[in-house]
Amino acid sequence: MVEGRGHGLQRQLALYTDRNWTEWLPTYAWAIEHSEGVIIVDTGQGVHLLETSRSYHPFLRWEVLFRIEKEEEIGPQLRALGIGPRDVKKVVLTHLHMDHDGGLAHFPNSEILVSSNELRTASGWAGRIRGYLPNRWPSWFDPAPLDLTAEPFGPFALSRRLTDAGDVAAVSTPGHTADHISILVHDDETTFILAGDTSYNEALMLGGKVDGVSSNESISKATLDTIKTFARSRPTIYLPTHDPQSGSRLTNRRLVGVPDRAASQAA
Ligand SMILES: [Zn+2]
Repeated sequence: MVEGRGHGLQRQLALYTDRNWTEWLPTYAWAIEHSEGVIIVDTGQGVHLLETSRSYHPFLRWEVLFRIEKEEEIGPQLRALGIGPRDVKKVVLTHLHMDHDGGLAHFPNSEILVSSNELRTASGWAGRIRGYLPNRWPSWFDPAPLDLTAEPFGPFALSRRLTDAGDVAAVSTPGHTADHISILVHDDETTFILAGDTSYNEALMLGGKVDGVSSNESISKATLDTIKTFARSRPTIYLPTHDPQSGSRLTNRRLVGVPDRAASQAA
């Protein structure tokens, strides 16, 4: 899943034949503390995912495993940071996979933004067959369409501003899902890419290694190239959801391609 093996159908079937597991990976969700209101990017897991091992869906039953407790869901974690549900103005989802929409129930009062094509892909029985969990969305879930416009943002073909100040924007990063988006946050000279599942870690992005989940390998590869091109054009910090290094990279503001000093000293 994390790094595709082979090409075409072989790469997709390898998801089911490879019996090796990664170590436990984090699922990050992000809070942007902005003067226009807090923006949340992805909502992480929920304890309902602990039931996937009983699912009839072969991917959910055999190919993923979750570990989470109630107080680790995004609501309690934000409260611990002093951010209450009413402080959150917007919630943006990079895509609707279950470890990104699992905390939606904590945001009944926020504006929720999702690509309308991604919403269509994830909805109903067709969505469930594709491995989404629309049956776990809160009953009130009715996101506003986050449709990007043909307004290029650097090398990204489509974009949309999420703040009046223009310092937070959604950009198209298709591949992992057909309508996957990433969020760019500009802070002075530096840009943070809240990258969702464009790759499972930075090394895979830099190596142009497509994951085992993407349906279209060449589109995924092109997105990884676009991110690399962007990172060459300005100081960039790359933060994928499941990269064990994303937390320390954010804290230390470590730029793409700059080796982690602590890690290399340990080596
Ligand atoms: Zn995903």
